Amino acid sequence: YAVKLLVTGGAGYVGSVCAARLVEAGHEVVVVDDLSTGHADAVPDGCRFVEGDLADVAGSLLGEGFDGVLHFAAKSLVGESMQDPAKYWHGNVITSVRLLDAMREHGTPRLVFSSTAATYGEPDVVPIPETAATQPTNTYGATKLAIDYAITSYAAAHGLAAVSLRYFNVAGAHGRFGERHATETHLIPLVLQVALGQREQVQIYGEDWPTEDGTCVRDYIHVTDLADAHLLALDHAKPGEHQIYNLGNGTGFSVRQVIDTCRAVTGHPIPAAVAPRRAGDPAVLIASSEQARVQLGWKPERASLETIVADAWRFTRERHQG
Ligand code: UDP
Repeated sequence: YAVKLLVTGGAGYVGSVCAARLVEAGHEVVVVDDLSTGHADAVPDGCRFVEGDLADVAGSLLGEGFDGVLHFAAKSLVGESMQDPAKYWHGNVITSVRLLDAMREHGTPRLVFSSTAATYGEPDVVPIPETAATQPTNTYGATKLAIDYAITSYAAAHGLAAVSLRYFNVAGAHGRFGERHATETHLIPLVLQVALGQREQVQIYGEDWPTEDGTCVRDYIHVTDLADAHLLALDHAKPGEHQIYNLGNGTGFSVRQVIDTCRAVTGHPIPAAVAPRRAGDPAVLIASSEQARVQLGWKPERASLETIVADAWRFTRERHQG
């Protein structure tokens, strides 16, 4: 069966991959994006593209009648969120509440929301279950948590069928869709820039963390596996309920292990230098995705770090070669 879906932020990294998967599955997809961080040419073929501010266009768009919304549009830089919180409270929270109001007004039944592991902050249990305390250490995580609360209450009061997916470290690429940030801050794309010769070396943010090799440990998940969870979430959303699932592979890799894997995949020596810790970084973030597996039937198929890095590397080289 095919449905009509609105994908907000569908010109961005995760949004474009998810839009591509939805088109591949035969759905009718409308992408809305203000192109503040996304790219018009990242909107997959087969989608209708509306360029605009979601807060302004949500009402008129949803008035057309949609079966659901996948909401990716957001500001997502941790450092920037600390320096310019207004950009995050307005861009993330106010815009999302406007979207919820428009969905309510036009009777849009389903929502899948792009949440984050940053809602948990410094975890007291590892791997992190959905029942862990939510104590975000940065404004970005706080705004995503605030939206989760808004969704919970709209679902309970107005019958919305909602699912939030809390991503751990998303990486890799899906065909021609991958990570293209103007200001790159993420580890794997930065390391691959070194392999491509665009950067001299990679900095390791701290070697004195309480981990086996002293560098931070993260749970990396392939963007295609992540996108597939959104399709399952759409199917499993239930009226009046707000379900929340963590998405990761349940395995942690240290910064040094990631760099070593990138060396093996690219065949480049990739010089690395130790730098001070980065503010706001937790030492270890590993997901328990038990609930997504049991409740959604989600099964990541590209879980190995080699596969994730190899796909990111293919994408990076193809873009570089034009
Ligand atoms: N990191 C690093 N050097 C970099 C970028 C990131 O050592 O140039 C570390 C960072 O401190 C964190 C891990 O790599 O422990 C993953 O960072 P990233 O920004 O990719 O994702 P985050 O975990 O912050 O969402």
